[in-house]
Amino acid sequence: MKVLKIDHLGIAVKSIENGKNFWSDVLGMEFAGTETVEAQKVTTAFLPVGESEVELLESTSDDGPVAKYIDKKGEGIQHVAFRVENIEEALEELKAKGIRLIDETPRRGAGGAKIAFLHPKATSGVLVELCQRD
Ligand code: ZN
Repeated sequence: MKVLKIDHLGIAVKSIENGKNFWSDVLGMEFAGTETVEAQKVTTAFLPVGESEVELLESTSDDGPVAKYIDKKGEGIQHVAFRVENIEEALEELKAKGIRLIDETPRRGAGGAKIAFLHPKATSGVLVELCQRD
């Protein structure tokens, strides 16, 4: 598999409206709008920075994965996303190496990207997202 770069950092916030104050107003990063991914019960906001992006994540529901994360650990970095050349190939390779996956096959994320999560138990506690953008 070929990992191309860090695509984005996923940061769980209680409120994008409040969260973006720091990233956008204080640091001056461009706020590129929001997108709700209902299947994940999350609204995302992307702030491009150089070759990568900050992705703010706000839960749309109390039982969504981001709400559960904040309940357990508070606001903060929730996942790191690496862009790969071919996500299907990457998942096959990881499966063959016995790496525990949350998503065996890619699903659609924000911006139409194909994404898949690896299990934190397989990655020293980091929730790793693979993503492929065409
Ligand atoms: Zn992400």
